[in-house]
Amino acid sequence: MELLNNQVTREQGIHSPRSNNPSFGLYLMAENLDIPATVLDFPSWNDFTEEIIKGNYTHVGISFIVPNVLKAKRMIEYIRRESPSTKIIVGGHGAAIPNLREILDYDEVCRGEGVAWLRRYFGDDVKKPIKHPVIYSAVRKFVYGAPILEMAGIILPGVGCQNSCSFCATSHKFEKQYTSFLKTGREMLEACNKTAEKLRVKDFGVMDENFLKSPVRARQFVDEMEKEMKAYTFSIFSSADAVTKIGVDFLVRMGVNFIWIGVESKWNVFEKTHGVDLFKLIKDLQDHGVTVLASTILFMDHHDKFTIEEDIDWAISLKSDLLQLMQFGPIPGTQLYKDYETGGKLFMDIPWPSQHGQNQIWFHHPHFTLPETSHYLKNAFIRKYQTDGPGVLNMAHTAIKGYLKLMEDIKDREEKGLVWCPKTLSYIPHPNPKPDEFMKLRLESWRENALRFRPILSTALKYAPNEKAAEKCRMIMNLYDKVFGKLTVKEMALEVVVKTFAILENKKYKRNGSIMRQPKTKRSEFPDRRNG
Ligand code: SF4
Repeated sequence: MELLNNQVTREQGIHSPRSNNPSFGLYLMAENLDIPATVLDFPSWNDFTEEIIKGNYTHVGISFIVPNVLKAKRMIEYIRRESPSTKIIVGGHGAAIPNLREILDYDEVCRGEGVAWLRRYFGDDVKKPIKHPVIYSAVRKFVYGAPILEMAGIILPGVGCQNSCSFCATSHKFEKQYTSFLKTGREMLEACNKTAEKLRVKDFGVMDENFLKSPVRARQFVDEMEKEMKAYTFSIFSSADAVTKIGVDFLVRMGVNFIWIGVESKWNVFEKTHGVDLFKLIKDLQDHGVTVLASTILFMDHHDKFTIEEDIDWAISLKSDLLQLMQFGPIPGTQLYKDYETGGKLFMDIPWPSQHGQNQIWFHHPHFTLPETSHYLKNAFIRKYQTDGPGVLNMAHTAIKGYLKLMEDIKDREEKGLVWCPKTLSYIPHPNPKPDEFMKLRLESWRENALRFRPILSTALKYAPNEKAAEKCRMIMNLYDKVFGKLTVKEMALEVVVKTFAILENKKYKRNGSIMRQPKTKRSEFPDRRNG
């Protein structure tokens, strides 16, 4: 799937970064079964059918989200026809669709946490430790049409979230409980080290709904990184309350340079934002070099034509680097779905493929027609873009600000004799302070992160959507010049490369209106482990 281009930077045209995220759960499950398994990720129809014919599989598992249920149906029909003895297991969020049997001819449904379910099903030892797979966080990454060569790994600490927001499909899928795969900071670091070594990466996506909700593990993790002097960097998801509790200094020490926070609504309808000054939190994170992706929801119960505008204005005024706008969506399996179904609010004739939150809602809202919901959403994306400019530009700004701030902070702490206190998660006076060598490494990682954006800035300027964005871009370019000096020869060459790709990309946008990027099928085999 494409995350940013689909629901964050979708109206930013050529400025929208592109990438595809592998189906992490499939690799995790295959890695942890004793029986041999093959993962087909992003399968084309031809590759899928060929695999079914050649593979002679006893079982085929199909994981899908709700809008893809008809794709799963086509796949299942093919398997039934060409390989009738194969048992079919369905799973993923789409498996929560009510009356699924009426749509799909499957044998089993994998519910809840997939590794345990499959181990039970195949008679493996359910309690065996989890083996962390080695996977890229995203593939086929492009910015302005230019391929991004730097890669990141993915770390899967656990699934589920206890916050139980009524609309949240992941929280409900895992029965509002958190299941950890990596239980300690040591296990986290071992997973990072393994991935770093095999994929030659230093940056990681942390696929965990609310990573900071397990603060003990997060604290251990930082201690372990410090012991080994591994200043990896991370993108995480966390709720505002958990971030506030653990503090921004901790996040920087850990190396979090990107965070996804659900801010949802100005009216604080969810517990996770109660008592949190989101304006202050977001600014504080950005000042320290942490890109903030705030996510917000439109067409909730309290929205009418006035309050929805207020909420959109509020979400934009938070000035996050990136903003996800998602329609309130009763997804099967959630409390919200149950409530709306009971209340007779669901439009049962809207096909499942249209229920994805990025076009029209699929329930009765007293204040909006369905076409209106599409217009409001699109206009909100455009407003964010016109107000704050391209997301990649904001990210560059945050990265360079954070590098400068960290440089000053390290100097300031040295002068004041402050050292990191893992108990209070703050910098405190010490009678014999030693230089903070770990944070010097961290500073280098912040520097590398900032420099990553430099070759795209002149292209961002060339295609700036308005004078305000162009002005911002010039200001950021000047800041880069001030901090790093003039562009190096290599940076100038990269700038030319990006500009050239951007010309081609721009032509494609003009010709087609949008650009579809379909990754190739990725096939991975996992061995038979039944004899150790
Ligand atoms: S905090 Fe986020 S992950 Fe947790 S239940 Fe709420 S929306 Fe879901």
